[in-house]
Amino acid sequence: MNIDLSVVVPVYNEDNNIDPLYREIGSALSSLTKTYEIVFVDDGSNDNTFQVLKEIQERDKRVKIIKFRRNFGKSVALNSAFNFVKGNIIITMDGDLQDNPDEIPRFVDAIEGGSDLVSGWKYTRKDPLTKKLPSKLFNNMTRLLTGVDLHDFNCGFKAYKRGVLDTISLYGEMHRYIPALAAQYGFKITELKVEHRPRSYGKSKYGFSRLIKGFLDLITVKFLTEYSSRPLHVFGIPGILSLISGVFIGLYLVILKYWKDIMLGDRPLLLLSILLIILGLQFVSIGLLGEMITFRERKDESAEKYIEAIVDGQNENNI
Ligand code: UDP
Ligand code: MG
Repeated sequence: MNIDLSVVVPVYNEDNNIDPLYREIGSALSSLTKTYEIVFVDDGSNDNTFQVLKEIQERDKRVKIIKFRRNFGKSVALNSAFNFVKGNIIITMDGDLQDNPDEIPRFVDAIEGGSDLVSGWKYTRKDPLTKKLPSKLFNNMTRLLTGVDLHDFNCGFKAYKRGVLDTISLYGEMHRYIPALAAQYGFKITELKVEHRPRSYGKSKYGFSRLIKGFLDLITVKFLTEYSSRPLHVFGIPGILSLISGVFIGLYLVILKYWKDIMLGDRPLLLLSILLIILGLQFVSIGLLGEMITFRERKDESAEKYIEAIVDGQNENNI
């Protein structure tokens, strides 16, 4: 049976933060008249996180714990919770007390007001500059490339209608791009300014390497959301351009040889022509291979994920 609200909190070595966070969530939710659960995902912590969680769970059965054998990362943690939760509205928030649970009712209001996904925006961010600057760069790039108009993609504080999570699937470190993945299916996405608090206990789990990984993920998301159904459109165009220029350069050299009797062996242009032809053929073949993979994977896929409602005169069914 479904309940109204699920609050999902991924935690990795946050033992000092859990108890205060649990209390704050509880008091924020007591102002709402909704049935709820709080799902903590212990992402392979090696401090006392699990013990603290278990003590809370024994007292309060609305608390559920998913425990990972080792650290698998925030995306995997969120994904496993998304498969598990029973709420019609799902809220995710960080477990480090940087997000303020008092904001939860505002998220719920926004969802009930018609949004499918509400994304928090850490308006005045309480993090060191070394974190804020790369994050700004990352957000600008993501906004530009995905066309989704958000200021803070990576904010852990978000709310979803159930249908959004049933539609998208997460892996690797893709949690940063949930809004872009959701936008692809036409879900309505809005932004909500949230308070951000400095971290008092524990350490940030992400260092510099996330910038590079984040950038690679961005390329993947761009590719997956826009081209994965037509890979030949991406590879075919540079491929054909390269092939045609290669052939023309080659023809030009052949003409020179037969009309003007100029030797071809020491012309760098000849190498360029060969390179362009081979590159062009490679691109086109990669595109065709992509098409084959897509065809195999998608031929059974129905368009169900794209449907918002079905109106057939008998019953109006919101999906
Ligand atoms: N987290 C997790 N698994 C990881 C890394 C982080 O579950 O591998 C959790 C972490 O415990 C916290 C949230 O994800 O609740 C955000 O992490 P963090 O505060 O380190 O990120 P930052 O705020 O520095 O971006
Ligand atoms: Mg944090």
